[in-house]
Amino acid sequence: MTKQITRHALGTLAAALAFSLAGPALAGAPMAKTPAPGYHRIMLGDFEITPLSDGTVDLPVEQLLSAKAEKTRSVLDKSFLKTPLETSDNAYLVNTGAKLVLIDTGAGSFFGPTLGRMLANLKAAGYQPEQVDEIYITHFHGDHVGGLVNDSQAVFPNAVVRAHRHEAEHWLSQEKMDQAKDKGGFKAAMAAITPYQKAGKFKPFDGDTELVPGIRAHATGAHTPGHTTYMVESKGQKLLLIGDLIHVAAVQMAEPAVTISFDSDQKAAARARKKAFDAAAKGGYLIGGAHLQFPGLGHLRTEGKGYRFIPVNFTQMRQP
Ligand SMILES: [Zn+2]
Repeated sequence: MTKQITRHALGTLAAALAFSLAGPALAGAPMAKTPAPGYHRIMLGDFEITPLSDGTVDLPVEQLLSAKAEKTRSVLDKSFLKTPLETSDNAYLVNTGAKLVLIDTGAGSFFGPTLGRMLANLKAAGYQPEQVDEIYITHFHGDHVGGLVNDSQAVFPNAVVRAHRHEAEHWLSQEKMDQAKDKGGFKAAMAAITPYQKAGKFKPFDGDTELVPGIRAHATGAHTPGHTTYMVESKGQKLLLIGDLIHVAAVQMAEPAVTISFDSDQKAAARARKKAFDAAAKGGYLIGGAHLQFPGLGHLRTEGKGYRFIPVNFTQMRQP
C-alpha cells in the first residue's frame, strides 16, 4: 500500500515537473486573431434557423442618426460603445425540412473587406450554395443583396430570388436611376438582381404573401419603398425577421423615435418600427435583425417609451 502511494506520488511529481517544463507559463501560445465562428443555430418548432454573419461595418452613427451627435455619443458610452460603431450585418438561413430558404445575403463584394463573409459562414454552418432553394430579400440595399453575386455571376445557381414588387419597381428602374442624385444604390441592386432576372429566377411578389409553408412576407415600406419583414412560424413558434427596422439598438431600442438617414421616409420608418415591435412584444415572439449585433435574435419587452431587447438564450439543441 505504502509502496503504491509512493510510486503514485512520484508519478504525479514527475508529471507536474514535465508540465511545468513544457507548459504554457514559459512560452506564450500564439493568438488566433480570427473572429469567433460566424454562424449560430436554434430550432423554431420543426424549423432549423441558422443566423449567418456577413461581418461588420464601422458606421459614424452620430452623423447618421436623427438624434444630436452629443446625445448619441453619451448613450453609446453608457453601453460601453463608441463611434464609429462596429455594426453587424446578418443573414438568416431557414431549413423548413422541405425547403432551404436564405433571407438576405449580406454585402458580397459591395462594401469592402469587413463584410462579404456570409458565404464562407454558410459553408462553415454545413451547407452549400447549390442547396439553397429560395432567397427572400428584405430590401435592395447593397448590404442585403450584394451576396447574391460574385463577379456578376449568381452565387446561388438553383435559387429563386423573391422580393416585394415595389422594391423591384424602384431600384431596377433605369428611369428612376436617371432622376436620382445618388445612383449607387440603383447600380448595386441592378448588379445583384440582373443575373437572376435574366435566368428567369427573380420573382417579385405583391403585398402580404405566404411564400412557402411557414414563411410569410409582410410589407412595411418606409425604409425603402418595398421593405419587407418575414414571419417564420413552425408549431406555433414564431420568428419575425425584421430587416432594417432598426440599425443602432443601443440608441433606438430606448428611443424608437430616433431614425437613421438610410430610411427613405424617416417618419414612416419610425411608425413601421413601432408597429412591428409592439406586436412582437405583445406576441412574445422572437425577432431577428440584420443590424442587431450577431446573431441578432431575441425578444422584445416594452419599457418606458421604448423597448428592451433580450438576446436569445444559447442552446446546444439537445434532443429530449
Ligand atoms: Zn441594411
